[in-house]
Amino acid sequence: MKKNIDWKNLGFGYIKTDYRYVSNYKDGKWDGGELSTDSEIRMNESAGVLQYAQTCFEGLKAYTTVDGHVVCFRPDLNAKRMVSSCQRLEMPVYPEDKFIEAVVKVVKANFDWVPPYGTGATLYLRPYMFGSNPVIGVKPADEYQFRIFATPVGPYFKGGVKPITLRVPDFDRAAPRGTGHVKAGLNYAMSLHAIVDAHNKGYNENMYLDSATRSKVEETGGANIIFITQDNVVVTPKSNTILPSITRRSLLYVAEHYLGLKTEEREVYVEELKDFTECALCGTAAVLSPVGEIVNNNEHIYLPSGKDRMGVVTQKLYDTLTDIQVGKLEAPEGWIKFIM
Ligand SMILES: *Cc1c(COP(=O)(O)O)cnc(C)c1O
Repeated sequence: MKKNIDWKNLGFGYIKTDYRYVSNYKDGKWDGGELSTDSEIRMNESAGVLQYAQTCFEGLKAYTTVDGHVVCFRPDLNAKRMVSSCQRLEMPVYPEDKFIEAVVKVVKANFDWVPPYGTGATLYLRPYMFGSNPVIGVKPADEYQFRIFATPVGPYFKGGVKPITLRVPDFDRAAPRGTGHVKAGLNYAMSLHAIVDAHNKGYNENMYLDSATRSKVEETGGANIIFITQDNVVVTPKSNTILPSITRRSLLYVAEHYLGLKTEEREVYVEELKDFTECALCGTAAVLSPVGEIVNNNEHIYLPSGKDRMGVVTQKLYDTLTDIQVGKLEAPEGWIKFIM
């Protein structure tokens, strides 16, 4: 039986669900892994994750389609991205097929927590891995835990989508040849001060620049960015210190193959910002969040799409991708992972 939850008014926060998946790595190999009802983790005070932040994560959603199935969107790409995060952080790789198996197990076990179709809510899945044995000299841990928990989350935007304001911060997110391209908790730890500062000053998010030249746009703390030109070209910044968003990659495909729009992945300079007609953030949580204003020191750039609603092209991209996700439009081969 579905949980007695007011799905339409859920926020974006942690709610403990019944089952999570746990697998342990020891003596050079992963155990079989299993579902657990225990939401608590006990580990040594000197665990690698606690001392040197050896941890990475993923984020994806399970949801109910228009015809009542439960599915996930492109979990194979999350599995792959976690492999590259683990490799960069000297952590053991969790096999991609086992990752998807674990996703399926967690969703099935928490079926009662999967929000019904049409509520805007989804079951957010958080796979992650961390070094669990004691480490004090700086080196990778020898033992690791891989987990996936699930938590129901509400529509990212309650009461409609309002364009947000970005500011270009004095802080940088990622160093050249650093870890900006992997989903490491450490990237978030060091972004917290910048986001609190942005919020204190009335901005919604930080638009980070490349730290080498501070002349090119990268992304926000947790979402990639797309722009629309006056000629309706969908442009997204190219840089190897940007996290490869699955939503962004999917949107570019949708733009080309469903909407017949031209796309460009290229360097985007700060001076160009005033020339775009639309701008939006993209990521799993909100799919697309329209941007109405960008503040760069004393310069205010107002996107022509305005501050009341999504731009026309952004809206088309949003509608098409979300229709694909819920099964109203046929998905490209392999995008929808059927669970039940
Ligand atoms: C997770 C994340 C994104 C969004 O990626 P999706 O795969 O679309 O959810 C964008 N930027 C950063 C820094 C992220 O950590």
